[in-house]
Amino acid sequence: MRLGLNLGYWGAGNDQSNVTLAEEADRLELSLDVIGAVFAHPSLAGWNGFGLAVQAYQKRCPFVIDWLVDLARRSQQRIMVRLVKGAYWDSEIKRAQVDGLADYPVFTRKPHADLSYLVCASRLLTAPDAVYPQFATHNAQTLSAVFQMAQERGVDDYEFQCLHGMGEPLYEQVTPPDAMGIPCRIYAPVGSHEDLLAYLVRRLLENGVWRVVDPGRVVTKAMPGESAHNFGAAFDVCFVGTDPYLHKYEVVHGTPDPLWALLGETGTKLGLNWGGPLGANDRFKWDRPHFENPQWKSFRSQGG
Ligand SMILES: Cc1cc2nc3c(=O)[nH]c(=O)nc-3n(C[C@H](O)[C@H](O)[C@H](O)COP(=O)(O)OP(=O)(O)OC[C@H]3O[C@@H](n4cnc5c(N)ncnc54)[C@H](O)[C@@H]3O)c2cc1C
Repeated sequence: MRLGLNLGYWGAGNDQSNVTLAEEADRLELSLDVIGAVFAHPSLAGWNGFGLAVQAYQKRCPFVIDWLVDLARRSQQRIMVRLVKGAYWDSEIKRAQVDGLADYPVFTRKPHADLSYLVCASRLLTAPDAVYPQFATHNAQTLSAVFQMAQERGVDDYEFQCLHGMGEPLYEQVTPPDAMGIPCRIYAPVGSHEDLLAYLVRRLLENGVWRVVDPGRVVTKAMPGESAHNFGAAFDVCFVGTDPYLHKYEVVHGTPDPLWALLGETGTKLGLNWGGPLGANDRFKWDRPHFENPQWKSFRSQGG
């Protein structure tokens, strides 16, 4: 019944678009079944605003794109496809290990995910009758490679996508009307604190990956299996810039450096546990600065 009501809302005549997010790999087939049924529904005839996200880090991604192109052609409707690399890499690896699978559903090396993104981009750009491609990435090299590929094929009916507050220096070069001439859609998350916390942690993790220049030193002295880091539920933080504050990290005479204290306070207000210096009696004062998901011990008891 809920599906019926939603179809009525999203149906022809409504010029909004609706893109279904891509989630964990083991939900892929289920979501394609639902999408296949919904897309071919008569109440959506003539509406080109339906779409979904596909993840290039999944080994099945090129085949999913072939399936979508075929679906769109059979339904004589164009489908919007948002190409992302995929946000759940750590948990995909962990789940496959816990389930004892013979192989991973995702690539295990970053350059392979980057290459898969370009292969999938190429497939999308060669099916303009069936697909409206949406390239969501904050990676400058990926974005420029897609732009170049589209130019070489004479395709300009596509868009780039970014998340509000992420990849800003890159998108300052993309969004001005006189820049690349390609539309850009900027997403902003909306929801309650509980819903947004997991989202925020994922974005902070991505920002961390983006900024790491040196793999760094030991981040935890906990025994194996006794740290939130073992469960992908913690991330390390550092300041970047001309005065990175690293030398001021340790508590001096019982008082944490004010900038570190402010960072800890801000993360704590967002619902994270702060693993940095708190004060004179802080027994963890030699730990490196990090935030933890407060639920991480329940991940441990669930085995992942
Ligand atoms: C507008 C928008 C919408 C999005 N919607 C979704 C969505 O619906 N579903 C979703 O899952 N994600 C979504 N994402 C997040 C996206 O999947 C990426 O996590 C994020 O954009 C980082 O990828 P990048 O190309 O920007 O950066 P990069 O730094 O180039 O890539 C980071 C990505 O590389 C991959 N990676 C990292 N290490 C490895 C490794 N060892 N082996 C293989 N691959 C690796 C991971 O996918 C990681 O996220 C969205 C992103 C944007 C901008």
